[in-house]
Amino acid sequence: WTNETVAVVTGANKGIGYEIARQLAAEGLKTIVTARNAELGQEAADKIARSTGSSNVQFQRLDISDPASVKEFGKWAKAELSTVSVLVNNAGIAFKGNTFGPEEAATTLATNFTGTRAVCESVLPLMPEQSRIINVCSLAGKLRIIKSNALKERFEGASSPDKVAELGQEYVNGVKSGAFSEQGWPGSMYGVSKLCEATYTRVLAEQCRSKGISVYACCPGYVATDMSSWRGHKTTEQGAQTPVWLSLHAPLDGTGKFYSDCKEEPF
Ligand code: NDP
Repeated sequence: WTNETVAVVTGANKGIGYEIARQLAAEGLKTIVTARNAELGQEAADKIARSTGSSNVQFQRLDISDPASVKEFGKWAKAELSTVSVLVNNAGIAFKGNTFGPEEAATTLATNFTGTRAVCESVLPLMPEQSRIINVCSLAGKLRIIKSNALKERFEGASSPDKVAELGQEYVNGVKSGAFSEQGWPGSMYGVSKLCEATYTRVLAEQCRSKGISVYACCPGYVATDMSSWRGHKTTEQGAQTPVWLSLHAPLDGTGKFYSDCKEEPF
């Protein structure tokens, strides 16, 4: 890669996303720091530029769960960046404690799955051969969280992004009606959203294969950030390791697979 190689990182104002962006900038990539809060995003970009000595760090606003913001970002990227070679979909949310309900389930899905999907679809037209998309998912969203075998098979067999979206919507409906558990769904809204994101990653990897674009899912591990209420045992430096390795070094034939600690993880 060169200083013309562009990397875009979502949710880069803090936590693991900040550190992913910092490491990519330190490696010399032109790094687009995105965040939904412009002030926090600009501050992060400035701090990354100062600490890495890179003059190739730029902030651009992107709220992944707001279709208008995703569209605007896509327009900006098309006009200002000739190509994007690395896209790290790191932005994500998790409600804390016992918070659970249909609205919260819908919001979680809308960010972690639908938002990630929207960003991929808006940036993909700018990605040349040998580009990489890294979706930061979670081991908390593995297929084993689904209790019903029929439902599991539907995740395994999902062949289009819309099929994954249908599954996500079914979960939200199940939470609304109260039938989710007897339908075989778990109580973890976050887990289901991350399972949808990882399943989408596999589907997208298949769609991108002919274009020579690799798409990976990964878990950063349990990391001390706001999301984990600072309980994670890994530092953000350690949490960023797998996503950064996937961005720069992972084998291109590993497309569609799930990684943890820089190794393939059975899903
Ligand atoms: P943080 O809560 O520290 O950071 C999350 C980032 O995502 C913030 O920058 C946040 O912005 C951003 N974000 C949330 N919603 C949106 C949105 N709609 N548009 C744009 N940005 C948004 O969490 P982590 O750094 O811990 O998490 C990063 C990723 O790693 C997430 O996808 C998470 O699910 C995943 N992960 C984390 C683990 C952990 O132990 N920490 C374990 C497994 C996976 P804002 O500041 O505005 O809220």
